[in-house]
Amino acid sequence: MTLKGLGRGKGGLDCKRLGRLDGRGGAALVRRAYDGGMRLFAATREYPGIEERVARGLAGVTRSEYLLLTDVRASDAEDFRRSLDESLRALGTEYVDVLCLRGVCPGDMSDGLREAMTEAKRSRRVRSLGLASDSLEQAREAVCGGFFDAVLYPLNSLSAPEELELAALAEERGVYFFASMPMAGGLLRSAACAMAFLRGAGKVHPLWGAEYPWQIDETAALERKPPRLTRLLHERIEGEREMNAGMLCRGCGECMPCPVGIDIPFAARAGYIIHITPRGAYTDRETRGKMRLAMKCVGCGYCADRCRFGLNVRGLIRRGVNEYREYMWEQGEEWE
Ligand code: SF4
Ligand code: SF4
Repeated sequence: MTLKGLGRGKGGLDCKRLGRLDGRGGAALVRRAYDGGMRLFAATREYPGIEERVARGLAGVTRSEYLLLTDVRASDAEDFRRSLDESLRALGTEYVDVLCLRGVCPGDMSDGLREAMTEAKRSRRVRSLGLASDSLEQAREAVCGGFFDAVLYPLNSLSAPEELELAALAEERGVYFFASMPMAGGLLRSAACAMAFLRGAGKVHPLWGAEYPWQIDETAALERKPPRLTRLLHERIEGEREMNAGMLCRGCGECMPCPVGIDIPFAARAGYIIHITPRGAYTDRETRGKMRLAMKCVGCGYCADRCRFGLNVRGLIRRGVNEYREYMWEQGEEWE
């Protein structure tokens, strides 16, 4: 399976953050990215209106001129078929180039779900199947299992050696590797460094998040003329790694369960999540409850013992709580 136009190291636009803009503003950024030369657009069903913004932004463009990726959550065949129908309708297309399944462990997929996915590929409504996961084990299973053509996993210059090995393994097995969080959720500041690093990490396709026109322009320019990993950039990357050591939570959940009941993958990444998703998306009762519970962390250290990336989990949770406090204050919401 080959995705036309997706050469080595070519990235695309991660459209998740477009949910922070209104429909017209989001669509305008998609078109700006297309006009700037970007040809891969990653939508999602996780947040309402993203696929619609992508469709609106690309209206009138010949379908074969760009690639569409989207992700769906589905636990069984019926769920999958319904989600796919909804995605195709929202994207205004007859097919998606990559459909990533999210929230499912490859080993736990039912035969019915596998069959429905295979059928979607056979009927050409889906050109390739991927797994979107923040779990290294699940992503590795997808790369090695032979069922998936692609994997969507967080990768950047703060990634651990075993995560970079996964990218190399994907290349060896002919599996497309789409990298989410190429800027480590805002921990990294230089897009040039991030791009140079990922281009050196193998056949990786970064998905760049953007919310402002200047971010689109910067990424599109770098995609057109990718930076080389010079000694200067290499030193800068090393500096960023040192400065941010222990700060990148992947959301894998391997540190769970917490004896207090804290949702660690959410609380530790709360600052990042609230800044990339539609404004006000996390002011609901459930999230308030989660973050209130996060304040009750007793510092037992079980989570840090289980985190294979050696993170300061308690510190991350504290930071998450602080950022959530600020976010709620900005929204004018009562919380504590
Ligand atoms: S340190 Fe806090 S978050 Fe971690 S397991 Fe203990 S109570 Fe839960
Ligand atoms: S703290 Fe570590 S184990 Fe827990 S979700 Fe984050 S990266 Fe995974």
